[in-house]
Amino acid sequence: MRQVKLGLWGPEVSEVCFGSLAISPLQGRVTEEEGASVLKYALERGVNWIDTAEIYDNYAQIAAATKGHPEVRIISKSYSVTAPEMRQSLEKARTSLKRDTLDFFLLHEQENALTLQGHSEAWEELLRAKEKGIVRWIGISTHAVAGVRAGALQPGLDVIHPILNYQGLGIIDGNLNEMLAAISFAAELGIGIYAMKVFGGGHLTHDPEKAVAFVRSVQGVQAFALGMSSREEVDYNLLLLADHEIPQELREIVKCRKRQLYIADWCQGCGLCLEACPQGALHLEKVAVVDPEACVLCGYCGRVCPHFCLKIV
Ligand code: SF4
Ligand code: SF4
Repeated sequence: MRQVKLGLWGPEVSEVCFGSLAISPLQGRVTEEEGASVLKYALERGVNWIDTAEIYDNYAQIAAATKGHPEVRIISKSYSVTAPEMRQSLEKARTSLKRDTLDFFLLHEQENALTLQGHSEAWEELLRAKEKGIVRWIGISTHAVAGVRAGALQPGLDVIHPILNYQGLGIIDGNLNEMLAAISFAAELGIGIYAMKVFGGGHLTHDPEKAVAFVRSVQGVQAFALGMSSREEVDYNLLLLADHEIPQELREIVKCRKRQLYIADWCQGCGLCLEACPQGALHLEKVAVVDPEACVLCGYCGRVCPHFCLKIV
């Protein structure tokens, strides 16, 4: 597995980070035990860091898979706004992940300078946590060009986790060229960058080689997170990254797992999920309706539905 240095002052990690949203209850594709087993399998094969978040609700699953492996690095994130909220998020992560020191902690889904300003108390708390040695590297995740630019200028920031794929799918405030320029700006400052949604939330899986080659070609992006929810997906991705031929049988198995957002017919049309969708992929026609072209299958809408109508299947 190719090892990369995350930015100028970040750690060395495998080029691929295990995106654990795919095994989390938020996406509900696999049970907790199945997910932990897939994660362990990926770690045995050389993936050495994991991306999670407080809302994925899978700290216990990750703690089970990483037990006895303190060398495996874990990135988590939260939506904390105030200092007490951030303290609580950090404490929850330390306790549930069974780590005294957290490797990485990020502010989740920052859109621009204004959102970062709104989270300034939480950021200051992160800075204090870094000074005290509670967390080693801090940063943001974002679906926005303005998020990358604002993050790059955020004092003390080490890492940015931006959305990036060759079609620019999922960027909420601009186009691919603008995102590339923002990433280049951040990278020139020495910030570590690992991309998300390299396969565009499933829309670009018909040509995975092209998707991976593109993200690898972007100067300043050192690594990327890939969601995997089966052993076959782990094998598939690792062959892909090693530039090895993927057996047709394996291609078929992984390709057959095409996913979509399922909206149950008992939807009450309350509209709460529309506000939770960063992509604007939902609208109401008495009940919630998804635009499959815009949906990147993040699962964020599912957590707000009071009637449990939304699921990635
Ligand atoms: S509709 Fe749901 S799963 Fe699709 S992008 Fe929006 S929040 Fe994510
Ligand atoms: S939150 Fe649930 S009930 Fe409300 S509109 Fe969305 S899917 Fe329907």
